[in-house]
Amino acid sequence: MNRRRRIYEGKAKILYEGPEPGTLIQHFKDDATAFNNKKHEIIDGKGVLNNRISEFLFLRLGELGIPTHFIKRLNMREQLIHQVEIIPLEVIVRNIAAGSIAKRLGLDEGTPLPRSIVEFCYKADELDDPLVSEDHITAFGWATPPELDDIMTMAVRINDYMSGLFRGIGINLVDFKIEFGRQYENDMVRVILADEISPDSCRLWDAETSKKLDKDRFRRDMGGMMDAYREVARRLGIYIENDRPEGSGPVLVKS
Ligand code: C5P
Repeated sequence: MNRRRRIYEGKAKILYEGPEPGTLIQHFKDDATAFNNKKHEIIDGKGVLNNRISEFLFLRLGELGIPTHFIKRLNMREQLIHQVEIIPLEVIVRNIAAGSIAKRLGLDEGTPLPRSIVEFCYKADELDDPLVSEDHITAFGWATPPELDDIMTMAVRINDYMSGLFRGIGINLVDFKIEFGRQYENDMVRVILADEISPDSCRLWDAETSKKLDKDRFRRDMGGMMDAYREVARRLGIYIENDRPEGSGPVLVKS
């Protein structure tokens, strides 16, 4: 039985109260959702893989000097994180046209963009997360101009780093979504990278074959989602064969 206090439950994650003030436990579920929850399935083991992939990417980005909420991975499904006040924006960085930008601007999927493009969506399920401008963001006070500057700078650095990282393992980083939060310490406040980065929130295409190695396999009913996520983890060098969800039964030990 889980006695921990649940702070928040989202589509793919649960946040529990952490062991110390200012900390939370982020639990990765196996739920896959798309089209604002209209499509929903349980994909066995997805949470375990996303926990590992997100841990890996947050650690690397932290080493690069990007402040993040990640403290440490606790177990197969959970990580200890700093509590933040989430800024209600989905920050999307795109390198190649796909998904909503392809539809919105009539671009063929796979067309390289003239340069990387950062977009912002206002996080509001009831409105289907509408695209907004920097002017909306500062006018409505979702983030201040200096906060927005920090977010832009970090988003571009994260894209540069991750594009190179994935290129090195034969994957094109087509686009991704990140979220930021305010961390309060004494009377200081700073914006740090929060949430997760995983194949749920990135488009990752094999560089040779353009095979999709991300959540579009689920959104577009292509099948093979877990194989694709495993492939990403394997190429990142973090796939563990016996990494199984808790309570999923005995594991056959090879002699
Ligand atoms: O759907 P769209 O093309 O706008 O998505 C851009 C990127 O943001 C994709 O990598 C997608 O996985 C991610 N995204 C997300 N969560 C959303 C919307 C988009 O992770 N709610």
